[in-house]
Amino acid sequence: MNIETTTARILLVDDQTANLTSLAGILKPLQVEVDTARSGPEALAKLLRAEYALVFLDVQMPEMDGFEVAELMRGSMKTRDIPIIFVTALNTEQKYVFRGYETGAVDYLFKPLEPIIVRSKANVFLQLAEKNRQLAAKNRELDKIVGELTETRDALRVANRQLADMALRDGLTGLANRRRFDQVLSGEWTRAIRDGSELSLAMIDIDYFKLYNDAYGHQQGDVCLRRVARALENALKRSTDLLARYGGEEFVAIMPLTDREGARAIGEALRFQVEDMGLVHRMSLIADVVTVSIGLTTIRPQSLSIASADATYVGQAPARFVATADSALYQAKENGRNRVVILDSRMEEV
Ligand SMILES: [Mg+2]
Repeated sequence: MNIETTTARILLVDDQTANLTSLAGILKPLQVEVDTARSGPEALAKLLRAEYALVFLDVQMPEMDGFEVAELMRGSMKTRDIPIIFVTALNTEQKYVFRGYETGAVDYLFKPLEPIIVRSKANVFLQLAEKNRQLAAKNRELDKIVGELTETRDALRVANRQLADMALRDGLTGLANRRRFDQVLSGEWTRAIRDGSELSLAMIDIDYFKLYNDAYGHQQGDVCLRRVARALENALKRSTDLLARYGGEEFVAIMPLTDREGARAIGEALRFQVEDMGLVHRMSLIADVVTVSIGLTTIRPQSLSIASADATYVGQAPARFVATADSALYQAKENGRNRVVILDSRMEEV
């Protein structure tokens, strides 16, 4: 932290020019910048215009006395914390008049002034002012650092969110990836058990994708994957549905709160959306355009807490569900592709 030192500025206020000259002479060895004012109003005007480390304030002045000036100084944010040394000819019996100011940085001097006492009191306040100034500078510096750290922390949070999001996304299609699919399936499985609701799953595979890649190249193959992803997304209307890239040219859709007939309708819509975009596939053996085969299954997951004490069985239940959808997909391919096949939990076509 770089704290610069500046010459302190002191304001001397007295209605007598001779007093001002004498006080300025006494303060000269302190190497401070000395300013003078001949009246309360002039003093207040100067205090508002510049920064002062200390004010010597004559108590007995016509028009506005030193206490009134001090009172007005306390009323302004800019001047309220400037230390005041009252200068008075009053005897010590009347010290009580200062009582109201003793909470602040206030002192007093009695005329005739003793140069050594004047300078030592001035020094005390000047050192205090300098310490306060350095402290304020350090605080500003710290505020700046805190601000920068806060910005860095916020930027890190954003970056971490993006990283976490990337870790769950397929880079090519922007869809959820296999890891995200596993998470969501596990969550939806638990939720379906709790709600007693049905859960449907669609495994989707692009027909003759290897032949497509051979014919058009891998770059065009990637374009095909992205376009199929968009078409499938368009067919899934509900925000609770999750479409993920399962791997290669395979996609998977989780459809919570969806019974078999609902799933059949969505499966047909998925299949149709892909065929309907009309992406030419001259190597396909079943159509002129890119098509997909879809395997579907629906389940009403049951809690296995009674059926089995074997914890691994609980973990395998969603896996079995996926395997059923996979078998349905295999069946759809066997049956001629570009179609939807639904298997029930006994692996029978329905
Ligand atoms: Mg006077």
